Amino acid sequence: MQLYTKISIALVAGAVAGLVANLFDLEILRTVLVAIEPIGNAWIRLITMVVVPLVFASLVVGTASLGDISKLGRIGGKTVLYYLGTTAIAVTIGLALSNLIRPGSRLDPEALEGLRSTYMAEGASRVELARDAPSLVDILLNMIPRNPIEALASGDMLPIIFFAIFFGAALSALPSERRDHVIGFFDGVNEAAMVMIHWIMRLAPYAVFALIGAVIARFGLGVLQSLLVYSLVVLLGLVLHVAFTYTAALRFLARRGPREFYRKIREAQLIAFSTSSSNATLPVSMEVAEEKLEIEKEVASFVLPLGATINMDGTALYQAVATMFIAQVLVGDISFTAQFGIVLTATLASIGAAGVPSAGIIILVVVLEQALAGTGVDPAAGIALVLGVDRLLDMCRTAVNVTGDLTAAAVIERSEYDYALKHGS
Ligand code: ASP
Repeated sequence: MQLYTKISIALVAGAVAGLVANLFDLEILRTVLVAIEPIGNAWIRLITMVVVPLVFASLVVGTASLGDISKLGRIGGKTVLYYLGTTAIAVTIGLALSNLIRPGSRLDPEALEGLRSTYMAEGASRVELARDAPSLVDILLNMIPRNPIEALASGDMLPIIFFAIFFGAALSALPSERRDHVIGFFDGVNEAAMVMIHWIMRLAPYAVFALIGAVIARFGLGVLQSLLVYSLVVLLGLVLHVAFTYTAALRFLARRGPREFYRKIREAQLIAFSTSSSNATLPVSMEVAEEKLEIEKEVASFVLPLGATINMDGTALYQAVATMFIAQVLVGDISFTAQFGIVLTATLASIGAAGVPSAGIIILVVVLEQALAGTGVDPAAGIALVLGVDRLLDMCRTAVNVTGDLTAAAVIERSEYDYALKHGS
């Protein structure tokens, strides 16, 4: 049986077990499901353990073997532009749907009161957390690590990427007798990391069962009921973004068959969905990119780690819908100028979000404060409205975030191929 089939079965089984525990209020089953959740968390730790050595080693090898360093500047420029462009499209889809369907006008007052009283305190604590979020200028500044070991030790992706590229470029400037054994060493580290991923992936079905079972068993179905229209708008937006934006990018920019592409990346999508973390999924998406999609290392090792941190289309789309929903409930409509502001802030703010569960909520505070400035609405009250279904939507938006990163890798690889053909290299 293929691994993704096993993971899919585990996912469905976990969801069914969680639903049964929830619907029939089976305390024993719920306790068991919550008790085995650490198996899932152990697995997340295991796969996250590979992220830093894998990203560092593969990026050093990718950069050092490029031959032409200006190529990296070109790839970097194209990648960032593509990421910002697709994120802005995602936000626009979210806004358009929210204007059309108006999920906020469909929330009944009783449900509103319930959400307020249940989630207000948690909303306030998230707003507090957002106060510590670095500004865009700080994020850009922090990309240059003062101490690369510190960046590696704390797993800060952008400074790690920066140092790995700088180091790889310096290596490529050395004479080959000096360079080759250093590259050989990192090549070995990279391959060992890939072997670890294969081993860890064999355990993925058990982890997925444990993670999904606990999430669903704990989930308040009542909350889902009151936030159903809002959740469906987010889901519809995510589906449309994949079906149109990514499919078009694959067909016309990457010139790959979308169906085949989506089939090959299923494992990464399932892991993203189950873990709600682009970072934890990064080793899986790198493996999928290199082994299944056969994307060159120099592209995959740069585009994917960068994407896990700065490219979050699903998260940005979610923020657009959530902001509109909160505004519709608390203050009524917001003007088109303010909505244009949402496109800008949500696109830029998604750069700063880390690829970890619930990071989107922190960014939502930033977007919300901007969009509702001057209305006197307490952002904590807004956040409280959407917290109840956050985990469920986080799973879906993370799957889209990872799909976006992998699509980008295919697009950038093709454009590099075309460039090489045109310039005869
Ligand atoms: N969990 C998301 C990710 O890792 C971020 C978010 O939307 O909360 O990509």
